[in-house]
Amino acid sequence: MPEQRVQMTFRTLGLSDPILQALEDKGYSTPTEIQRKAIPAILDGRDVIGTAQTGTGKTAAFVLPILQALSGERKRRAKRLRALILVPTRELGMQVQDNIELYGKHLNVASMAMVGGVDLEPQKQQLIEGVDIVVATPGRLLDLAHQRALYFDELEILVLDEADRMLDMGFIDDLNKIIARLPHERQSLLFSATMSRQVKSLADSVVDNPFEVSIAHNQKTAPKISQWLIAVDKHNKSALLSHLIRERNWDQALIFIRTQHGAAKLVSQLEKRGIAAESIHGGRSQASRSRILDDFKAGKIKILVATGVAARGIDIDELARVVNYDMPDEADEYIHRIGRTGRAGLSGEAVSLVSKDDFKRLCAVERRLGKIIDRVTIEEFPVVKDLPASNLNFSSKSRKPSKPGKPSKPGKREQPTDKPAQPAAKTPWGAIKK
Ligand code: AMP
Repeated sequence: MPEQRVQMTFRTLGLSDPILQALEDKGYSTPTEIQRKAIPAILDGRDVIGTAQTGTGKTAAFVLPILQALSGERKRRAKRLRALILVPTRELGMQVQDNIELYGKHLNVASMAMVGGVDLEPQKQQLIEGVDIVVATPGRLLDLAHQRALYFDELEILVLDEADRMLDMGFIDDLNKIIARLPHERQSLLFSATMSRQVKSLADSVVDNPFEVSIAHNQKTAPKISQWLIAVDKHNKSALLSHLIRERNWDQALIFIRTQHGAAKLVSQLEKRGIAAESIHGGRSQASRSRILDDFKAGKIKILVATGVAARGIDIDELARVVNYDMPDEADEYIHRIGRTGRAGLSGEAVSLVSKDDFKRLCAVERRLGKIIDRVTIEEFPVVKDLPASNLNFSSKSRKPSKPGKPSKPGKREQPTDKPAQPAAKTPWGAIKK
């Protein structure tokens, strides 16, 4: 008898009619490989570890069975979520939330994106009204959990999406804090583009007897943000930046700077050296900000200088690099800045120009990342006021570092933490090549 090939459809995977209808509305008829492999296991209640990148259909692979699992009749309870999807960036959070709405449009399942950069109050209100699925970035979720705006005691399903990127971005402490709050009896799913030792050890702490699925990469490079810094005297920053743009042939860079005034000044300094640049900051009209952003996305503007606030809406998949001309006041802001690069499976770099007066802020960032950022020396720019050596134990619990180079006094808030120093090699990052 000739072998009969059974065409795998969404129906044969065991999905219900309202979900099949939504897929049909969207025009999806054939499940992708990760969907074929992961959906039945998730519907069976198994824990899953999936190695798959963006573009493989991995979002639907976990969203569809979660929607199905939560779609039964059940009264929604204020502040009690049933599924939690953790993602590294605001943009991915919005994307996943859009997918949930799309695939769940014929179901009565309530979901929300709980991401930073937007007002807390409407998010709290939504939680009071009752939400089944929360898609969250780790920092914002912890903020709301600390404020008792949500509780995990009824949580049934946890998803860690783009786990490698969350580790890259320094979320390991936040993830551990969140995981410690979750009920032990739950289903856990972890997806990652790469499966490094660090991702595996995170997975081990989350999943139980998992079903493992691995989808071949369609891109050669794994998403990776290479982070490095250059110690530089403050008055030399603009010359150093011009040097880097020229010598390293930077095609495009988004440069973060603290003040509006600084942004305008830097643009004119770059232009004096023959480098065309533009700036966006709160002082410019919305219309001109939008125009400049469009030109930057289209590649017409190569070098864009931005203050943190003005850069919030920047969403460019192929941005190769961000530069911290000033270190940000808040360590979390650094995380948001570097989240602009290395997206869509591409690699990116985050470069910081650090002068001595930035050192405290650098310590706060390194403490937040749980690793020391590689330092690179540029021969043409010897430093007069050198940076003290980094030390992860430098900062206090409040994440504000103590005086640079000086040990803190006992009994003061900013004494070194009692945790042992973490050598860089033991952190979730491998060595960074230049
Ligand atoms: P993701 O890997 O989740 O980022 O998905 C990549 C893209 O594939 C998204 O635009 C999805 O909407 C789309 N997609 C997901 N599943 C399917 C499918 N079975 N057929 C066609 N497109 C899909």
